Amino acid sequence: MSDISKFPTRSLSRIEMLKYLCPPMQTMLPQFDDTAIAFEYRSDKELKRAEFLFSFMNSPFLTKIGMGATKLAMDWKLPVKGLIKKTIFQQFCGGETMEEAARTASTLAKYHVGVILDYGVEGKEGEAEFDHAVPEFIKAINYAASQKNIPFISLKVTGFSRFALLEKIHSGETLTDAEQQEWQRVYERIKRVCDAACRANIMVLVDAEESWIQQPVDDLADAMMELYNKERVTVFNTFQMYRHDRLVFLQASDKKAMERGYTLGAKLVRGAYMEKERARAADMGYPSPIQPDKVSTDRDYDEGVLYCLERLKEIAVFIGTHNEHSCMLAAKYMEEHNIPANHPHVYFSQLYGMSDNISFNLAHSGYHVAKYLPYGPVKDVIPYLMRRAQENTSVSGQTSRELSLIRKEIKRRKL
Ligand SMILES: Cc1cc2nc3c(=O)[nH]c(=O)nc-3n(C[C@H](O)[C@H](O)[C@H](O)COP(=O)(O)OP(=O)(O)OC[C@H]3O[C@@H](n4cnc5c(N)ncnc54)[C@H](O)[C@@H]3O)c2cc1C
Repeated sequence: MSDISKFPTRSLSRIEMLKYLCPPMQTMLPQFDDTAIAFEYRSDKELKRAEFLFSFMNSPFLTKIGMGATKLAMDWKLPVKGLIKKTIFQQFCGGETMEEAARTASTLAKYHVGVILDYGVEGKEGEAEFDHAVPEFIKAINYAASQKNIPFISLKVTGFSRFALLEKIHSGETLTDAEQQEWQRVYERIKRVCDAACRANIMVLVDAEESWIQQPVDDLADAMMELYNKERVTVFNTFQMYRHDRLVFLQASDKKAMERGYTLGAKLVRGAYMEKERARAADMGYPSPIQPDKVSTDRDYDEGVLYCLERLKEIAVFIGTHNEHSCMLAAKYMEEHNIPANHPHVYFSQLYGMSDNISFNLAHSGYHVAKYLPYGPVKDVIPYLMRRAQENTSVSGQTSRELSLIRKEIKRRKL
């Protein structure tokens, strides 16, 4: 209601008049510092564990030692599985099996937070392993379809193909006949997964990996989008905005999708392999594909988000980030342009165990949110856990933000 006592006496323009008579609606923008909402699903004990873990990861020295020791212990087959499972695994993974992950998913459902089932096993090679992955993914798709809050599954093409084969295709070398057949089998595996997902109305996120295998990954994702994104969106490709060529690639992918008559599924992330990318480029003497600095990555990320939000008729966007500024920018843009918070073409996402302040507060304000929830045997998800530990150490500010929010909530509960 307008406050008449504040109504000015001078004559008003039509716009000014409207401003007084119809004050802006109550904003639905989330508050990322509301720790009561952020951590409602965590028990006191779980919060304490998170506090311990993030304090540990806050120290690059301790993290380095911890990562080295874990790797050694796993190589020597020392009995450390229990310790890993009770600490870092529980923080960042949904469970060892899909059934365990399902329990975590149903807890998140109570807070309107969705889940992306991520079969987190990495680094397995061999045709038998790749074939075995297909039914494992189809099982996850069918399970997701039976649940209200699991709209996505994610996959890595390296879970279905030999890394060296992808590398060879990326480099443009000619494949032998046997390799061509091998590549055809990879295509068929991915197609079977996407086909099952399309029929079950589950969306598939194709993760981005190292830049030197990305061309065939992009090609596969495009081929699947062309097959399965005609009537509704099933497949999303991933755009790593820490690469200086990806904003242009995002625009080109949009153009291609429009020309070929499908909706582009665009998952935007900053990118997880920065140190590795830079080191390889320096070792092999080619220009680094990574942006010169963080500011450039942030600029392209936010431009990518806005580019997609401006074109929601032709693009479905998946905003995968722990960056509060990028999430707020997207939420504000949506509000200012009257895009409903629960627009079917907009998803926000964070990794399980990280940035709950963003996920749970966005969900509380009505936005679509889904957490990446990896699951798999402890020993097989170690590479994923290592990346989380490293990321939380290398990303300046993030761990201390996480820690201070956890401490704030512990203190609030005591009071
Ligand atoms: C839901 C979800 C899905 C994901 N899927 C993928 C995936 O498929 N593939 C993948 O590679 N990653 C993936 N990631 C990880 C992601 O790429 C980032 O590593 C992570 O999210 C940190 O970036 P941020 O936007 O959250 O936060 P921020 O803390 O704002 O950004 C940190 C990121 O900025 C970039 N950066 C930092 N310093 C510099 C610098 N000096 N110069 C240039 N850039 C810099 C790096 O990418 C770094 O990871 C995913 C993340 C999420 C949340």
